[in-house]
Amino acid sequence: MSGRDQLKRTKETCHRYCAPSCVDQKRKGFHIELLKLRPHWSVQKKEEQFQKIDLGDKVPFDIALPLPARDEETPGSDRGIRLFWEMFRCQECGRCCYTPGAGLCLEKEDFERVSHHLGSKKKFKTMCRYDKALGVWVLKLPCPFYDKDGKKCQIYTIRPQTCTKYPLHPPLKEMPYNLAVDAFCPAARELAKETLGWWIICENNWSRILGGQNIDKRTP
Ligand code: SF4
Ligand code: SF4
Repeated sequence: MSGRDQLKRTKETCHRYCAPSCVDQKRKGFHIELLKLRPHWSVQKKEEQFQKIDLGDKVPFDIALPLPARDEETPGSDRGIRLFWEMFRCQECGRCCYTPGAGLCLEKEDFERVSHHLGSKKKFKTMCRYDKALGVWVLKLPCPFYDKDGKKCQIYTIRPQTCTKYPLHPPLKEMPYNLAVDAFCPAARELAKETLGWWIICENNWSRILGGQNIDKRTP
């Protein structure tokens, strides 16, 4: 097996079996002790990394976080997502709602729910466009439901599912086992900076697995 394949398999194993202990180590700040033991890029290249993350303010891209993404096959694998929401502090800047963009894909249920709320599908359709290639309705952005003066969503309790998940994005192709966030969101960028040192925990687990140690699936 090539080194690359080996690392891929290691990360997959890490994602599956270390997730509970890994999330726990991160929550408890285990990285602080590890960072004292050896030099790490998250400290040495901190400023450079921060500048890179802040580029997302102008050119949106996705950042992989040192948190496991959900694995549908493994029960309880939403620990990473739960820790993300525990830590995420929305700044309520509204940028995700009022910034012009390609639009926001709606699930079928979103379309029905919001149309029902407006009392008219026809009215809602004027706020959307139909994407033939994707076969879905897309809510136009800037979002017509964002109240710029009151700085709030006018349909908050029934907002589309994509809005409830933002700034979480699907994992990056090259990092399929980690949560990814939209760097355009300032709160997501803050979290990426705050958790930069957590990568040493991931790397520690990868080398532990590569070192051939058994993974105890029951590790809390
Ligand atoms: S861009 Fe981020 S910080 Fe701003 S309102 Fe949206 S989720 Fe909150
Ligand atoms: S529906 Fe609400 S939360 Fe979603 S983009 Fe519009 S204003 Fe923002």
